[in-house]
Amino acid sequence: MWETNNADMPVTYDVVVIGGGPNGLTVAAYLSKAGLKTLLIERNHDVGGGVWTEQLTLPGFRHNTHANFFVNLVNNPIYKDLQLYEHGADAIMPDCNTGGTFRNGKAVVLHRDIEVTTRSIMRFSERDAATYRNLYMKFGQKMGRVIASLTYNPPLPADDLRKLIRGKLGEEFLNFSTMTMYEAVNENFEDEHVRTFLKLVIHSFQYDNDRGTGGAIPRLVALINTLYLVRGGASNLANAFKSVITGNRGTVWTGCHVDRILVNDGRAVSVGLSDGRIVEAAKAIVSAVDFPQTVRLVGEDNWDDDIVRKAREWNWGRQSLIVLHLALGRPPHYISARSEPLIDQTFNIYFGVEDSKELDENHRQLKTGLFPDKPAGNSACNTLFDSSYAPPGQHVAFWWPHAPFKLSAGDWDELKERYGDYLLDAWSEYAPDLKGSLLKKAVYSPLDAQRHSISMGNGSVHLGAYILDQMGVNRPHPKLSGYRTHIKGLYLASATSYPGGSVSFAPGYNCVNVVLDDLGVGKWFTPIPRPEWSE
Ligand SMILES: Cc1cc2nc3c(=O)[nH]c(=O)nc-3n(C[C@H](O)[C@H](O)[C@H](O)COP(=O)(O)OP(=O)(O)OC[C@H]3O[C@@H](n4cnc5c(N)ncnc54)[C@H](O)[C@@H]3O)c2cc1C
Repeated sequence: MWETNNADMPVTYDVVVIGGGPNGLTVAAYLSKAGLKTLLIERNHDVGGGVWTEQLTLPGFRHNTHANFFVNLVNNPIYKDLQLYEHGADAIMPDCNTGGTFRNGKAVVLHRDIEVTTRSIMRFSERDAATYRNLYMKFGQKMGRVIASLTYNPPLPADDLRKLIRGKLGEEFLNFSTMTMYEAVNENFEDEHVRTFLKLVIHSFQYDNDRGTGGAIPRLVALINTLYLVRGGASNLANAFKSVITGNRGTVWTGCHVDRILVNDGRAVSVGLSDGRIVEAAKAIVSAVDFPQTVRLVGEDNWDDDIVRKAREWNWGRQSLIVLHLALGRPPHYISARSEPLIDQTFNIYFGVEDSKELDENHRQLKTGLFPDKPAGNSACNTLFDSSYAPPGQHVAFWWPHAPFKLSAGDWDELKERYGDYLLDAWSEYAPDLKGSLLKKAVYSPLDAQRHSISMGNGSVHLGAYILDQMGVNRPHPKLSGYRTHIKGLYLASATSYPGGSVSFAPGYNCVNVVLDDLGVGKWFTPIPRPEWSE
């Protein structure tokens, strides 16, 4: 085996991983730690994909351009197995974790302490407070481990799941998946503020009101008060992975675009770079870039027709965000702090619509390519929890409402500044002092998100809609849902595979388990047990 960067000569690794987002980083870190000579190839000038930090506004102001909220990060098996803290990825979990604020001066807060949460919801409805508490105890406390094991294991067909998740509570958990998210919320909660807030939260996990999305409710109640902020910037998380990879048998190439995967005799043998270099993979190629691109990289002729059709028609969903980033002299101060003072100390704050009617109108406009009259989504002021995001005494904040990727009129580069001004006005209705403390603003459009990570087609935050045809064993395709492909040695690991997007590292982790099994290489970590529940 020999190795060179000379353009004329191929180089050989045991495994080549394409794409340096959180899932590709996960695969390369675990495999290189398993003793496999692993190469990670990323087209951007650094790794990270959706885990990225830039000084978008002024020098010294650090803005997370994509992921900002990391669900239960330090309890995540990947964070623990790879000891990412030791590699520089420190994380903070704010006490007032998530909240919602309304134009009428009311607010609700979900705290790390369920008793504080219950008191906050009680201001709206005693019944809703009791229901939320009850759901949290059942799904956050009792079934928390099962919910994690569902994420960190390959997907199972519904019938198999029903055999493994049994009993009254297990049935209640699974029954949520037969509903739409609005049905699940409306059936369980009575107050319009609480309903609207919970719907906004679920939408922010990129679910539309499709059949099956009610399944998000138990997961949401279990996890929404466990969001972490990465100290110093999300990029520190990517850097920690890089440190694990290069500290073991891994190598990272950046600024290299993979433009083909070469197949010989039914086996994926090498990847071609756009500069003409070829890299050979002796044991496996893992694609941690989106499924439609992977199909193209291999060549459509090498796949079954139904797979090609699904890749061509991949539904990216209506899940793109416009992000208004601010450099501020003071943190946002919400009018609703008069009734719920904790809102000014809350990490992840939702606002934009007052009730389900306004939310419906928002989605009607999104569907038709219109920029919503009343934009809605979540926001954060990271400097409240980590002062290193800005120069001393100053602040960063952002708000990211949903916005259509394809505008019915005009294009993003032409319109984004105008929409940024509109968002600043809308945000100021909730926090009137915002403009008075503004130092600079920057707008990051859905097109910017896609330019940064070409795997986020149409700016799709989770790399594809959560519709029944793209969830569970259907993601990305029933023939490919176990991370293997019919092409020997080729595996899938991006968020277009189960369980989907967000920085859970789960598609990468689940793929690692399959690759190591197939290669007969021992696991240096203890895999998460398969999901099982009975009372
Ligand atoms: C605005 C925004 C906000 C978000 N906020 C959150 C949040 O708060 N919390 C959260 O958990 N998630 C959030 N997400 C979602 C999260 O970022 C993604 O779901 C996640 O990054 C997907 O990981 P991935 O590794 O599958 O893909 P990506 O992160 O997209 O990584 C794919 C990588 O592959 C590279 N690549 C693609 N094609 C090639 C090629 N041909 N050759 C070489 N390299 C290639 C890309 O450059 C990229 O680095 C957000 C996303 C956006 C857009």
